[in-house]
Amino acid sequence: MGNPKAFLSIHRLEAGYRPLNDRLNDFGEVEQTLNIKERELQASRCMDCGVPFCHWACPLGNKPPEWNDAIYKGDYELAYKLLNATNNFPEFTGRICPAPCEPSCVLKLSCNEPITIREDEAAIAEMAFQEGYVKPHIPENRNGMKVAVIGSGPAGMAVADQLNQMGYEITLFDKAEAVGGLLRFGIPNFKLNKKVIDRRVDVLIEEGIKLKMNTPVSLKKLPKGFDAYCLCTGAEIPRDLPIEGRKLKGVHFALEMLSQQNRILAGQTFKASEKISAKDKHVLVIGGGDTGSDCIGTSNRHGCKSVTQVEIMPKPPKGLNPRTPWPQWPIVLKTTSSHKEGCERKWCITTNKFIGENGKVVAAELEEIEWLPAEKGKRPEMRKTGKKETIPCDLVLLAMGFLKNPEITYPENVFVAGDAIHGASLVVRAIADGRKVANEINEYLKK
Ligand SMILES: Cc1cc2nc3c(=O)[nH]c(=O)nc-3n(C[C@H](O)[C@H](O)[C@H](O)COP(=O)(O)OP(=O)(O)OC[C@H]3O[C@@H](n4cnc5c(N)ncnc54)[C@H](O)[C@@H]3O)c2cc1C
Ligand code: SF4
Repeated sequence: MGNPKAFLSIHRLEAGYRPLNDRLNDFGEVEQTLNIKERELQASRCMDCGVPFCHWACPLGNKPPEWNDAIYKGDYELAYKLLNATNNFPEFTGRICPAPCEPSCVLKLSCNEPITIREDEAAIAEMAFQEGYVKPHIPENRNGMKVAVIGSGPAGMAVADQLNQMGYEITLFDKAEAVGGLLRFGIPNFKLNKKVIDRRVDVLIEEGIKLKMNTPVSLKKLPKGFDAYCLCTGAEIPRDLPIEGRKLKGVHFALEMLSQQNRILAGQTFKASEKISAKDKHVLVIGGGDTGSDCIGTSNRHGCKSVTQVEIMPKPPKGLNPRTPWPQWPIVLKTTSSHKEGCERKWCITTNKFIGENGKVVAAELEEIEWLPAEKGKRPEMRKTGKKETIPCDLVLLAMGFLKNPEITYPENVFVAGDAIHGASLVVRAIADGRKVANEINEYLKK
């Protein structure tokens, strides 16, 4: 344990974000970092609880008390060893995990100042790369068996990493041109710089994982010559809004713009007719979640005139929600760095139709709704109130989540992991699932 009394005298300190006028001019990461001394002080606040709820809440079973103690003692090599034992890629989760561990931290309950677990994790990962503690571990013995991992998002990367270390020969396939899945072609660079993925991929390659990018794999006809397969193909079907005007120019799925923007930043070029830009436009984002928030950040960086985000559900309470008490994940109002960059947010809103001129969207008709309490055993019912408004918009981004893939029974040597099986979720869950399924594949192949 760090300093046994630190939590009494040291307050939680977040590194915060780059100033607005600076960060809106580029796609660089918005989050800042604390200096080493401040980071040690933050880590010292951890109480090494008898029942560490942080550990309970983490899908990976990360062990913050152990690595916080190591940070406090300045032993970042040990901190990385402890962190890496449960998390293959802390440099990703340290940046973009919503950190379910933090609202479950005992210090959230006692003083509303949980340990800065996610930032501590990011600090360990960065120090580890900087100081050379992240070294390729080339497996000494190969067992002669081959596994194909289809899909190179965080789930596929975790499956590949785990099985490679167990001695299997791994080929990681992806239809995209580079490794990372939504880490690379979904999550904006201002949340995750893609060099962070590249440097991890370099380690995986040195460790012996073979990559086959630009290779769409038919799930009905898997490549021959492998003892087992793991499908980590994500949840790729976005929820649509089939209302009047959906086919107008200017109405897009969120990922069409987000993935294109990440590709542009990677140096790709697009014809003017293909480009989805928010410059000088009134943007309407439909969907109040994280993907919607990423659309707001991207639109503001493009130089939009305005951006409005509408959500069909009611506005969640601020701060505390008695329906989701500690140590549960709190369903409360979330205001992201992108929201703070400027937008209007509306709740309990449905979109009736898109209005066009000359084939292009120019406005949307919105209507307020109310939610009627659920009858026993039923879901709450939505009712339109008749309060309508038409707002100008020349770019509409649909960010209403992704559909779950249909359940398919595959042959016994074919496994599925990540969003492909559980539906759209989080990077931390994809990594955790990848680790679990890698163990299942190992058990199957050892038989
Ligand atoms: C815009 C956006 C922002 C997000 N932000 C966050 C965030 O801040 N924090 C967080 O924790 N989570 C976030 N998420 C969710 C997170 O990115 C996903 O839950 C996670 O990436 C799922 O990992 P996965 O490996 O299962 O699938 P994916 O990352 O979707 O990877 C699937 C891969 O499979 C490939 N593939 C699919 N079919 C085939 C085929 N037939 N042949 C070959 N390759 C194929 C795809 O090209 C892709 O590379 C976000 C999601 C989106 C869309
Ligand atoms: S719950 Fe909070 S204070 Fe307790 S061990 Fe975990 S991080 Fe430390």
